[in-house]
Amino acid sequence: MKKLFFLNILLTALSLHAQETYIQCGKLIDTKSGKVQTNKTIIVSDKIIKSIQEGFVNPTNTTDKVIDLKTKTVMPGWIDMHVHLEGETSPTAYLDEFSLNDADIAYDAEVFAKTTLLAGFTTVRDLGGTGVNVSLRNAIKAGKVIGPRIFTAEKAIGSTGGHADPTNGYRKDLMGNPGPKEGVVNSIEDARQAVRQRYKNGADWIKITATGGVLSVAKSAGNPQFTQEEIEAIVSTAKDYGMKVAAHAHGDEGMQRAVKAGVRTIEHGTEMSDTTMDLMIKYNAYLVPTITAGKAVEENAKKPNYYPAIVVPKALAIGPKIQGTFAKAYKKGVPIAFGTDASVFEHGLNAREFIYMTEAGMPIMKALQSATITNALLLDMDKQIGSIEVGYLADIIATNDDPTLNVATVNDVVFVMKEGVVYKVTK
Ligand SMILES: [Zn+2]
Repeated sequence: MKKLFFLNILLTALSLHAQETYIQCGKLIDTKSGKVQTNKTIIVSDKIIKSIQEGFVNPTNTTDKVIDLKTKTVMPGWIDMHVHLEGETSPTAYLDEFSLNDADIAYDAEVFAKTTLLAGFTTVRDLGGTGVNVSLRNAIKAGKVIGPRIFTAEKAIGSTGGHADPTNGYRKDLMGNPGPKEGVVNSIEDARQAVRQRYKNGADWIKITATGGVLSVAKSAGNPQFTQEEIEAIVSTAKDYGMKVAAHAHGDEGMQRAVKAGVRTIEHGTEMSDTTMDLMIKYNAYLVPTITAGKAVEENAKKPNYYPAIVVPKALAIGPKIQGTFAKAYKKGVPIAFGTDASVFEHGLNAREFIYMTEAGMPIMKALQSATITNALLLDMDKQIGSIEVGYLADIIATNDDPTLNVATVNDVVFVMKEGVVYKVTK
């Protein structure tokens, strides 16, 4: 009894000062003001940024840790609004659908999640898989698996033969009739049911495929695939359940229907007309460019037998257009949210998007803001992530060089901390 009493006193004394981490930053990007600051020390206690001090401060308590980033550029962890952590491009990807069990997908997803985090992405929105992405989100949240914080759409919603119909291109006796439970809808009632099923399955967001897509085994990459009423039913039902809607769209008509129905983000946006750009501005809908994916499909389509034959002409037509559309939309004032479609290219190369955005005329600071404060706002996390401020979650990364002077350094992330835990430090 006495022993236990002293043990308690000892534990209380130790816990009076939780271990803190002092991050000494040579440069620090303030995403809110868009300014690069110099010589600061961020003090992290548990998961939270406790204070930010001038100069390089050393702790007085010997149990505290110091991380020396005096020659590095520190910024908030990046947020990618469009990834698919369950898979990755490969010449066998289409056959894998018939051989991989959920457990196989889960082991792969665990690797892709870790790779993504170590590339500097502390938060992602997963825009569709089989549902393993929900379990992955939960496992990461519980600290069982290493990866970014995930907001997931679970399984994307499409229509029969549409981009998110999981049985496109199958032999007829394998096609079956997936239905709203599997995210395939053909009426307003189906649309509502599919949203409610996603909610039941644990989704945070709803993803629809408003038009055809490049990588599905189907002819059109751009035709509208929902009626106006079906999209409206999806958006209003999602709203009832506290979810927002992201719409994959290459073709203009399907895109316009989605924007008018109130989706929050348009993914890819390839054939976006001036009228639709104006609508995006009017409805405050965000374009998620995915330029990196456009470049990757164009490149892979040139490799013999990499994609099914029906995919190749679509990839060659759509892929090269995405960067140009982004350039035009950005200049016109369309709101931009950073997102890449990682899985269409190798996970961990997500930061290349910053380089492509700057090539298209967006200043790097604006691109960094889209990947931090803008995305945090869309995820309703703007008081917790996207900025290095007192009280915010300690999602902190560093690049070797200052990206505002040398944009290529976004590919050289040397430090990653998520919720106060260090996952990467390279000297
Ligand atoms: Zn995608």
